[in-house]
Amino acid sequence: MRLLIVEDEKKMASFLKKGLSEAGYSVDHAASGAAAETLASENSYDLVVLDVMLPDQNGLDTAANLRRDGLSCPILLLSALSSTKDKVRGLDAGADDYLTKPFSFDELLARIRALMRRKGEQLGSLLRFSDIEMDLAKRQVRRGEQTISLTAKEFSLLEFFMRHPNKPLSRTSISEHVWDVHFDSDSNVIDVYVNMLRKKLSAGQERKLIHTIVGVGYVLKED
Ligand code: CA
Repeated sequence: MRLLIVEDEKKMASFLKKGLSEAGYSVDHAASGAAAETLASENSYDLVVLDVMLPDQNGLDTAANLRRDGLSCPILLLSALSSTKDKVRGLDAGADDYLTKPFSFDELLARIRALMRRKGEQLGSLLRFSDIEMDLAKRQVRRGEQTISLTAKEFSLLEFFMRHPNKPLSRTSISEHVWDVHFDSDSNVIDVYVNMLRKKLSAGQERKLIHTIVGVGYVLKED
């Protein structure tokens, strides 16, 4: 899943970027409201983490502008302000949730998972398809009785497939949601990762679940 972090404070921004990347998210960063609007118009994000105190704008205005420009993914506001009035204003501006600084990183991760869950039809922190079960909180994957160990990138790739089962996914859409702005569109990195993931998922299994659609991309489906 690809996130946009909007935060001007350098330390906080790098802490968020590092932590969220380690948690398996692809992360882009904007240091101002204007930069966030530009990035959001050029990329498709699954969630935006937005600081309220930005150098050029109030984050509440940024949230309203992003919504006006058609951003539909969840927005999580970060702010030092914790009065009820501020929370209400934030939510009215188009945000979906509000986290007060300082916060624990585990709570941030749990809120991000909860927001992603509201978007889909997922229950708890589990994603299931066929005999695959992904626990997003524990970051564990099982196929049937077998535990499958994945790298962070393989995990986010599988999560993207699991959130869009039976839907053909193009390489472009995979790159937009699983990789960040530094993705090189001329490379075959997606095919390489899909093949590695496929190999791990199909070890000792009869049924293949990730299928190639020639000229399009890939689909997670049962035969
Ligand atoms: Ca700030």
